[in-house]
Amino acid sequence: MDSSVKRFLYEMADRAAAVAEGAKDAVTGAGRIVGEKKDEAKLRLDLMRLRSECESRFSEIGRTFYLMNSGDWPRGGESAEHRIESLLGQVGEREMQISDILHRLELMNGRRECPSCGTVYSEGDAFCPGCGRPLKDADKDS
Ligand SMILES: [Zn+2]
Repeated sequence: MDSSVKRFLYEMADRAAAVAEGAKDAVTGAGRIVGEKKDEAKLRLDLMRLRSECESRFSEIGRTFYLMNSGDWPRGGESAEHRIESLLGQVGEREMQISDILHRLELMNGRRECPSCGTVYSEGDAFCPGCGRPLKDADKDS
C-alpha cells in the first residue's frame, strides 16, 4: 500500500470514529426523549438515522477501498474510484443535514430572544445585540 492510500484509510477511520462517537451522543439523547417536545424528539431521531446512514457509507467506502487495492473490485461496472466519490458525496449531504439539525436543537434548548426585537442573544449578554435594549437573563440560576 502506498502512503497516500494509507493516509486516506486513516482519515476514513477517523471520520468513521467521529460519526460513531456522535451516534452515541444521539442515543444518550434519545433516552431523554420522554418529556421533550415532539418536534425535538423527531429531530433527534432524524439525527440518529442520518448518522447511521453515514456510518454504513463509511464502511462501504472502506470495503470498496480494500477491494480496489487488492485488485478484487469487479471490472466492467462502475469504477471503485467513482463509487467512493459518490459515497463521499452522500456522506457530505448528510453531514450538512446533521449540522443543520444540531443548530436547530441548539436554538431549541438554549434559545434566548430579545423581547423587543426577537434577536437571539447569548447567555450573559447585558444588552441586545440587535436593538440595544438592556436584558435581564432569566436563566441566570441555571
Ligand atoms: Zn432587541
